[in-house]
Amino acid sequence: MDSQADVTMDEYAAIMLEHVPAGEALFDARDLRLLAANRLFCRFLAMHHAPSWDARTVIGQPLTGWLPTTSPVGAADLIAIFRTVAETGIPYQTEEYAAPVLNCEQMYWNWSLHPIRNEHGHIVQLIFHGSDVTAPLLARQQAEHVHTLLMNERARFHAILDQLPEGILLVEATDGNISYANASAATILGIPLQDLVGVSFHQHGRNPSLDDVYDRQALPWDFVVINALFGKIAGSQETVVVKPDGNTLIMLSSSAPLYNEEHSITGAVIVFQDITAQKMIERQKNAFLSLASHELRTPVTAIMGYAEILHMLAAQEKGLSPLGQRAIAQIVTQSDHLTRLIEEMFDLTRLENAQLALDCAWHDLHATLKKAIESQEITARGQSIRLVAKGLAAADSVMGYFDEQRVMQIVNNLVSNAIKYSPNGSEIEVGLQRTPEQPDKALIWVQDQGIGIPANEIRLIFQRFQRASNLDKSMSGLGLGLYLVKELVTRHKGRVWVESKEGEGSTFYILLPLQRKSHKHT
Ligand code: ADP
Repeated sequence: MDSQADVTMDEYAAIMLEHVPAGEALFDARDLRLLAANRLFCRFLAMHHAPSWDARTVIGQPLTGWLPTTSPVGAADLIAIFRTVAETGIPYQTEEYAAPVLNCEQMYWNWSLHPIRNEHGHIVQLIFHGSDVTAPLLARQQAEHVHTLLMNERARFHAILDQLPEGILLVEATDGNISYANASAATILGIPLQDLVGVSFHQHGRNPSLDDVYDRQALPWDFVVINALFGKIAGSQETVVVKPDGNTLIMLSSSAPLYNEEHSITGAVIVFQDITAQKMIERQKNAFLSLASHELRTPVTAIMGYAEILHMLAAQEKGLSPLGQRAIAQIVTQSDHLTRLIEEMFDLTRLENAQLALDCAWHDLHATLKKAIESQEITARGQSIRLVAKGLAAADSVMGYFDEQRVMQIVNNLVSNAIKYSPNGSEIEVGLQRTPEQPDKALIWVQDQGIGIPANEIRLIFQRFQRASNLDKSMSGLGLGLYLVKELVTRHKGRVWVESKEGEGSTFYILLPLQRKSHKHT
């Protein structure tokens, strides 16, 4: 206590001046002599002016003497400020003053100059107070720069998005509001941009009623949005919406969730394009195919029936020349081929119009396969077709709940392909197996030693109208058989795939559920 009591007020003031985080200096108001300065002010001085000036040499010297006149910041301006404060008594204050710096980066000060008056009111001294604001200023400038960059980037990004022909929407997870829509989104949906943004996506676009005629595959348009908000990604999904003008729009939509750093879903992005026109053409094409295949069936069935009668008569009466007999045999084969093509076309249109319903019942799959092979043996061109029922005796049955005609059709398609695409005299194996791992399913396979499928085309081979590039152009076909196989297997809740090596052969596999519960009549 005693030792503290010894410390005078002046000494306290001196300690405070030395440690205050600001530069403090006192000037004579008449000749601008530096009377006193604290440590920080002297540091500023050394940094901003000639390093040869230090506190000792500068104190007692007028500002006009030690301010370097060569300095780019206009020493004259500073001196003028000091003189004005000394004469007018109006304090001077400036912020973010770019101070001249020697050999180092730019520094910024907030500084002020205040007059000090004597008891007569005369200005006798000027007190300078300055603090270094370089760090916060640079940080702010940096933040502003980044902000400008982001804004520019955002504007550029929006400009790009507005050029895209696809509609783009961003939907917020919190309230389902559309936070961004590009110009195409507004055009496609037929809703002005300003009405689209800021409103919940539920409020836009009426979902079609059941009476409206649509492809059944198309989903209501908000389905993909909801899916994305639940974290699911949807790619190229057909969606349908009724526009404010009452017109129906079919769109190809893709959607994905948006996440923040904590991996929580913050919203969804939806990209869509208007495919109504293409769909209309497709629908007309389907309608035409449906009509054409339907109309063609009747005459072809008649031709085939009469050709078979002629064939039988010719065989019995032997009145026909060998050429005539061959001609009739050809009519039978070709009209059989024609019938298959027409059936494929007909099935395709029924599938597309969601009119293909399964007629499921309990059947013996083993017996169904036997029947399918029998029907195909006639068409084989020297190939032998054998049934391999692994783990089953010849008379064993494999009961399953399926549409027998459709399963026959599936196997027929695969076997007729195996015949078509493999050489005479080769072997075709039709297999059936119930694996212990999946007793409620049966594995069926059709294996050939034919031309195989090029590796890079296997992925696409089940798509409609897809034919491999290694085919001899003379091999006729529409490229619909495998598509129908896939659709029919899928409708039975089964799975189909192929393993194939070009030049060595192919094996098509079908995993078919046997239980009733997994079937749905579609
Ligand atoms: P299509 O036989 O009428 O051309 P599919 O849809 O039945 O049509 O078959 C599609 C394509 O798959 C065929 O054109 C052929 O390139 C290939 N393919 C199908 N089955 C086989 C097979 N067993 N061996 C080799 N290629 C096959």
